[in-house]
Amino acid sequence: MKRLSLRARLTLLYSAVLCVMLAVFGALFYRAQGLFVEQSLTTELHDEAAFLRNYMRVNDGQLQLVFDPADRDRAYLIHVATRYYQVFKLPAGDLVIESEELDLLGVRPTPEQARTLAGEKDDTDVMLPSEHLRFQNSVIPAGDGATSFLVRVAIPLSPADAARRGFLRSLLFLVPVGVVFAALVGWQLTKRALHPMKNLAAAARNIDIEQLQQRLPVRGTGDEVDDLAQAFNGTLARLENSVEQMKQFTASISHELRTPLTALRGEAEVALLEAHSGEEYRRVLASQLEEFDKLTQMVNQLLILARAEAGEIHWTDQSVDLSALAASLTEQMEPIAAAKNIRLEAQINSGVIVRGDSNWLERVILNLLDNAIKFTGEGGTACLRLASENGHAALRVEDTGVGIPADAIPHVFERFFRAEPSRSKHVEGVGLGLALAKWIVEQHHGQILAESRGDQGSCFTVRLPLATSDSVTTPA
Ligand code: ADP
Repeated sequence: MKRLSLRARLTLLYSAVLCVMLAVFGALFYRAQGLFVEQSLTTELHDEAAFLRNYMRVNDGQLQLVFDPADRDRAYLIHVATRYYQVFKLPAGDLVIESEELDLLGVRPTPEQARTLAGEKDDTDVMLPSEHLRFQNSVIPAGDGATSFLVRVAIPLSPADAARRGFLRSLLFLVPVGVVFAALVGWQLTKRALHPMKNLAAAARNIDIEQLQQRLPVRGTGDEVDDLAQAFNGTLARLENSVEQMKQFTASISHELRTPLTALRGEAEVALLEAHSGEEYRRVLASQLEEFDKLTQMVNQLLILARAEAGEIHWTDQSVDLSALAASLTEQMEPIAAAKNIRLEAQINSGVIVRGDSNWLERVILNLLDNAIKFTGEGGTACLRLASENGHAALRVEDTGVGIPADAIPHVFERFFRAEPSRSKHVEGVGLGLALAKWIVEQHHGQILAESRGDQGSCFTVRLPLATSDSVTTPA
């Protein structure tokens, strides 16, 4: 089943709440109004009974209402008060006076009932098919000590019943009408309230991947819709940035792939142009092999970065003796440095232990040493220092090479970045090593920094948290 629109759901909810509220308030009001009318009628009954008692006299064993008939107002009031009026003589319980109305209605207690009613303190209700009466009973002593009179005065409760019924009828009519009216108003109001959302949705629908620089309109009202638009605009900005990076990345890959491929093709074409000696072919093939190696290295590094981003790389979390690892790797790089006539020094404090994956940490150190040797000219020096500093392992690789221009420092960890190509164009590499190193160091909760030392070379510092455990993994 299709889900109702937000507008319809809001209107329904609002109408339902209103309906329940009106019903509850209506019921409470209905009850309160009934009680109020009934109470005023009861008060009226008590007033009438008290009024009558003022004019009652017992003469010769008979109860009489004594008043001046010439006083028309009083005579009228007494007439009204005695419309529903009965007097019984006690203890016999015989009826002595009865108004015409009560006689017609046939509400006449038996002598036994009259005796019981004389003991009744509360008012008594009598429900007849045509009338609903409330009686007040009072006993007037005759003065002889033996007899008394039970005086019953009644008031019809039908006006209260009628008012209650009328109110209920109006309620049953007005509540549904009110709810329908409110639902219509609510429908219109939600339309107005949701209008800005519709505009946002329409604007958002028009933004595609080619127009990520577009933004949703922010009206400046500071309301929830503005909040939503701002949040969406933030997402668009991040998306635009990511897409831009992806475009640059793709362009860089294409460029980096094209260069060695063009070189390979050029060499093959030249070799095929004319017949060469076996030695010449071997030289061409050897040169091509170098290009293939470069390509393979680049593709491998790209694959590692892609797998890293996809979270597919698994880490071991062991104690790694960084001192032993650094010493072993410096030793391993020694012949490469020596081949370029570069002095490779190591100042390593022993017992520097970190936690992590020794294979990945090895890549970081090798990359830094490899760069230091690559970017240092003959006769230069490269130095690896390792020490513990304030709870961290500080590994520094310094060289006396070409250095890094200050404006390139913030970019050296970006993919495919190579500072001043003119300086490094004769140096192998594709600009992925430091990006990978940075990612590895960050996975180990550390930091990597590049510093330029002007013309005196460069310095890379890796800081890793020291391990607290004492188990040591010695590199193979
Ligand atoms: P690659 O070495 O393959 O070019 P890297 O990511 O390792 O890629 O390095 C990126 C760039 O940073 C290098 O091309 C170079 O311009 C600069 N760089 C890195 N290390 C050094 C260094 N020790 N001395 C001077 N420049 C360096």
